[in-house]
Amino acid sequence: MKIRRSLSDIRNLEGTNLQLSQYLNIMEREDVACLFHSLSLGKLFVDKTTLQDLRRLFDGKRVFQNDLIDEPLRQSIKYMYEHFMIVGDGDDDLTSRMAPKALYDDLGIRLMYLVVSEGCNLACKYCFIERNYEPQIKKTSMTEETAEMAVNYFSDILDRSAKSKQIIFYGGEPLLNFPAIQAAIRKIHQLQENGSLQKDTVVSLLTNGTLLSESVARYLYENGVEVGISIDGPAKNHDAMRMYPDGKGSFAAVWEGIQNAKKIYGNSIGFSVVPGPHNLDELPKIMEWLITDVGCDKVGISLPTHPFYFEPEQIAQKIFESFMVIKKYGLGEDRIVRVLRPLISENIYPSDCGAIGGQIIVASDGSLGVCHGFLGSRQFFGNNLASLSERKIHPMQLNEWQEWSTRSPLVALKQHCQECLALGLCGGGCGLNAYYRTGSIFGMDEAFCRYVKTMLGLLLWYLYDKGKDG
Ligand code: SF4
Ligand code: SF4
Repeated sequence: MKIRRSLSDIRNLEGTNLQLSQYLNIMEREDVACLFHSLSLGKLFVDKTTLQDLRRLFDGKRVFQNDLIDEPLRQSIKYMYEHFMIVGDGDDDLTSRMAPKALYDDLGIRLMYLVVSEGCNLACKYCFIERNYEPQIKKTSMTEETAEMAVNYFSDILDRSAKSKQIIFYGGEPLLNFPAIQAAIRKIHQLQENGSLQKDTVVSLLTNGTLLSESVARYLYENGVEVGISIDGPAKNHDAMRMYPDGKGSFAAVWEGIQNAKKIYGNSIGFSVVPGPHNLDELPKIMEWLITDVGCDKVGISLPTHPFYFEPEQIAQKIFESFMVIKKYGLGEDRIVRVLRPLISENIYPSDCGAIGGQIIVASDGSLGVCHGFLGSRQFFGNNLASLSERKIHPMQLNEWQEWSTRSPLVALKQHCQECLALGLCGGGCGLNAYYRTGSIFGMDEAFCRYVKTMLGLLLWYLYDKGKDG
């Protein structure tokens, strides 16, 4: 959703009271200023003299007098008016009331995590799911019956108009329970054949790669399952974090899994890297290694969860440098794209997390939750798949989903976010991080805020440099 208005001629503004919007941010670098509106996502780069002129005209409420304007300023003023950077009485209130529509338009279940196994054969040091497991919660495996029921339920509640629809096999390590994966895949195909589940529903598996045999890879490939493998770099980086419970690094086993997958998938696999003390400095090089030496068509960077190991500004800088490398090879990176896409399209990005009214998590015992990060405590997992399915209850009828669905800077976080330059495109970060930091999902994911504001600054100047260089 865009916040925009049109203006055919700036002469039409003659005699109106206008001032700079409260949502306008001005960033300066050498002799250039970037004017950025945090809700319309309009951005204008002007030299310092133009900035002074604009301040003279609009700092404080002024009556607009067209004949005082030089020609070079006209285009800037038109752009600023159209993007609500200069406003009349009530315009800021109007934009602030319009913005939440972007969130409401975005709500709708489109993603299911099927947690077929809550156990894992690895004990990665930073695993946020493992870290939060309460001793009394059993790490069970999903039955085939539950897997089938989950697919059925998902097809019933899915927002059929959603742009992307996805089922993800997740864990622990999902390949510890291959029979449940196979049962779910059979059900997916059956529902796709009879039209109950749309054929464009993407099915994927996120794995640590250690159990990926050639026959498993072949089965997945033949059944249209996308594979994403977690890897943190070559052995020296990877083994420092991703290890077996006895402390032995998992790189050798992952490498074998990758080779098995590549025999079947070629380069059509994805890798996911978690930055941390073991690889942050080398992150751009690791991306290059994954693309050119290992071979893949997708790389992703997952932000570490609370507590952050590094200064978020440092992570943003390294992810930005990695993006520059990835881009060279014609690939995108989801973490950056989440900020860059709204910045370029000027469409508000209302939430950064599937738990905001977009997903269900089916735990291995059939309980249904909002966010996989809470599997270990079973908070927000108070519902049972069998019962919901039998009573035909949609998750959005339940308190948990309704509550989480407001967790956006445009709605429930508004009072903290109103003055932030990232208001219209940060999505509010992660409710799990906020919960562990503040005790409430409506607290702030402060590390994310610092990360995203740094990233936004880097990307704004990146766009400026790119425009300047043609
Ligand atoms: S970066 Fe943080 S403070 Fe800013 S809008 Fe997003 S959640 Fe709010
Ligand atoms: S709250 Fe955090 S961990 Fe949970 S789904 Fe959202 S982004 Fe992911």
